[in-house]
Amino acid sequence: MNCSRVRKFLTLYLDSELSAEASFEVSRHLETCADCRARMEGEARFEAAANRALSASEPEWTRAWERAASRTFTNRRRRFIAVAAAASILAIAAGVAVLLAPHREIDISRAMTANHRRYLAGDLPPAVEASSTAEIERYFAGRLPFAVTLGKAPSGAALMGARSCYLDRTPCGHIVAHVDGVPVSFFLIETSQLGAFPEVSSRLAEADPFHCESGPFRVLVCRSGDRVLCAIGELSHERLETATRELCDSR
Ligand SMILES: [Zn+2]
Repeated sequence: MNCSRVRKFLTLYLDSELSAEASFEVSRHLETCADCRARMEGEARFEAAANRALSASEPEWTRAWERAASRTFTNRRRRFIAVAAAASILAIAAGVAVLLAPHREIDISRAMTANHRRYLAGDLPPAVEASSTAEIERYFAGRLPFAVTLGKAPSGAALMGARSCYLDRTPCGHIVAHVDGVPVSFFLIETSQLGAFPEVSSRLAEADPFHCESGPFRVLVCRSGDRVLCAIGELSHERLETATRELCDSR
């Protein structure tokens, strides 16, 4: 894949929306091309800043607006300006909307669900197959902007593998295990990088771990040192929690 093609794909790559093959091609190119890597890092920083600016006053439905706006504007900076304007107009009504909103899934669970569904569909296979947490730690070294230390494979679970990816442009480690035969995705994010997911920080301040649901899936989020570990799968909340505890117990 050449530079101009890679640059066309960068946004989709950062959103984990490329096919597995295209994503692999882009990441392979980025490993060898400093120019494209710098472009990618600039794009990621811009998106992170845009996310922080928006999340300060962001109602749920601004994201719907943003999705609608993204179809209209191809230039991402114009889109950001449009969304920022929309956010300030809508912010006044936002408090009312939040009060009236029924219990709903949270920001990060939507991104997790999309990735987990694609894993289930065979569309996002692990970049490395691994049967031990030590292998996964070695794989992540140098591929994520933070160190990964894990506990052991959860009892009753088979580790399948891992890949480094982005959840809403946030660098993240995706680990897949089959727990009691049920596919579970674990996502590891640095706490300081949670800007795209303000609901995670506010929910963790109330309860650690906390649970929510997303379609057929249970979701668990907990702190592990200065990382946040999130798990998703069709398991009971209790089973998801014991498996997650074992995986992140790095003593
Ligand atoms: Zn290049």
